[in-house]
Amino acid sequence: MHTLISTEPATGATLWTGGRGDADAEVARVRSAWPGWAARPLSFRIETLRRFGNVVRGQKEAFADLIARETGKPLWEASTEVDAVVNKVEISISAYSERTAHRRLEGAMNTRLAVRHKPHGVLAVLGPYNFPAHLPNGHIVPALIAGNGVVFKPSEKTPATGEYLIRLLHEAGVPEDVVRCLHGGPETGQALAASAGLDGLLFTGSARAGMALHRQFAEMPQKILALELGGNNPLVIWDAPDTYAAALIAVQSAFLSAGQRCTAARRLIVRDQGHQEVVEQICRIAERLIVDHPHANPAPFMGPVIDNQAADQLQEAFLGLLTKGGRPIKHLERLADDKPFLTPAVIDVTDVRDRPDAELFGPVLQVIRVADFDMALAEANATRFGLAASLIGGSPELYDRFWSNIRAGVINWNKPTNGAPSNAPFGGVGLSGNHRPSAFYAADYCAYPVTSSEAEQARSSIGIGLRDPYAANNLED
Ligand code: NAD
Repeated sequence: MHTLISTEPATGATLWTGGRGDADAEVARVRSAWPGWAARPLSFRIETLRRFGNVVRGQKEAFADLIARETGKPLWEASTEVDAVVNKVEISISAYSERTAHRRLEGAMNTRLAVRHKPHGVLAVLGPYNFPAHLPNGHIVPALIAGNGVVFKPSEKTPATGEYLIRLLHEAGVPEDVVRCLHGGPETGQALAASAGLDGLLFTGSARAGMALHRQFAEMPQKILALELGGNNPLVIWDAPDTYAAALIAVQSAFLSAGQRCTAARRLIVRDQGHQEVVEQICRIAERLIVDHPHANPAPFMGPVIDNQAADQLQEAFLGLLTKGGRPIKHLERLADDKPFLTPAVIDVTDVRDRPDAELFGPVLQVIRVADFDMALAEANATRFGLAASLIGGSPELYDRFWSNIRAGVINWNKPTNGAPSNAPFGGVGLSGNHRPSAFYAADYCAYPVTSSEAEQARSSIGIGLRDPYAANNLED
């Protein structure tokens, strides 16, 4: 009997049905196969992954169509996600050689020192639904290049995309037992994390699930755990000479992907005096954003959120802010009762009592007015998360102050909070992760360094602390 169903958020149509997998059985299959993969020359693994890039390129239209239907994101955006999957291959090859390549060092007395990296073994990858191909792929490709085997559990909300990704890896020549797709929800994720045959787990998802996994791994310090979690990201607009440009950046930061990006701006911090102009601009632009079916013509800026439950929760959170003293500037509206299409919303939360430090994973921008830049910095840092932050406007000196004082792993100036580059490290501080950044630095957690002192022949001497054999004989005489 089928136990998992994936429906298209935009239409409610069933897209995929399938059964839940057996975590231990999948881990056992990969356990038996990964040593063979690790023993292959690096060049073989790289060539296989390059072939994967070409296979994905050849299937771009079908893949983008599937991602758009399963997540609800616009087709143009799904298409950029497929590009990111392809580009990840070359980026990961460069990262492997830059971060974890074989190095020779000079040791004392002509000793040869070598630093080489070994794969961990069997790694689990758990992915979120918002970038169901690109984000897991960002763990899987570097893990495979380094010689690991992988059990990938896609989000239960995007199983079809996850399965498709793994099929393309197999098509490209990665052996079927080296990378596996395991379907299921959080309980399957827990079972996978608990599997004795696992050597580590690479996770992208919510802070709630990340903390649960961290607890689960508390007694397994020998296993690597990389956590890429959420954010409650601030965007500060300060002395911006071009308010229209500032408003456009705010809209892109808050509403791209219907706000379902870990780096989306959640809190807009502005100077109390004269803030109206930029906030009005933001609302005017937000009013013009097309919210529609991913394949609609004209192309929408954003589609629905992932499902009705997520839309209900966002509406409840918005109402919660209203009842605590929030002032709606642009309401969060549901375009159809039975579908998760939401319009972009803006709410002034300056007077909200006990403002919750929660990630509202949708198109809701909260405005906070402050009197001076010190207060703006304090507000920006008033979160347990620390993923992304942007300053729009100001001078180089002000940006210096911003950069030095903000706690986040991505700090931008006159650029959106989202759209982080793949060829740089990506990760956050605070509740946004566990200091194992991904993207370019994913290579670091996919292999461990081994230091070796080596010589062709065994030669040695002990120069101090040995009893003189002749002196000892004399004593006995
Ligand atoms: P989620 O945490 O609900 O689920 C992610 C994955 O973990 C899914 O595969 C899910 O089945 C599994 N899971 C959930 N609870 C689990 C548990 N207790 N044990 C084991 N596995 C468990 O996240 P989501 O709702 O799919 O994605 C949105 C979240 O992901 C947001 O918080 C967003 O900020 C975050 N995210 C972070 C990044 C990043 O790189 N930092 C990128 C994208 C999304």
